[in-house]
Amino acid sequence: MTNRKSTILITVTLLLLASVLPGVGNSIAGSSNIASVLAQPPASDIGKKTVCAYCGMHLKVKKDTPGATYNNKNYYFCDEMERDAFLKNPEKYISTTPASRASSAAQATQ
Ligand SMILES: [Zn+2]
Repeated sequence: MTNRKSTILITVTLLLLASVLPGVGNSIAGSSNIASVLAQPPASDIGKKTVCAYCGMHLKVKKDTPGATYNNKNYYFCDEMERDAFLKNPEKYISTTPASRASSAAQATQ
């Protein structure tokens, strides 16, 4: 009987450990150095004029503007495709000026 009791105890301990581990993973993913999707622009950003962090187009932040957060800063984009491209390599878009990319993008479309 005592043997069976300790087996149950071990099982319960393992289950508790398993439920704690995903929480550890979440806190790593929440680190500010990782670019992540901004579910919704904060109220303080709505109505603000900014430039698309991907192509440099001027845009006004709306409730449904695609956004990303990186290094505790919010970035906004024309569409989800541009946001996804930014998420894959945020440093690339932060290290070059949007204006220089905008002029090359304008040339490409003409
Ligand atoms: Zn854009």
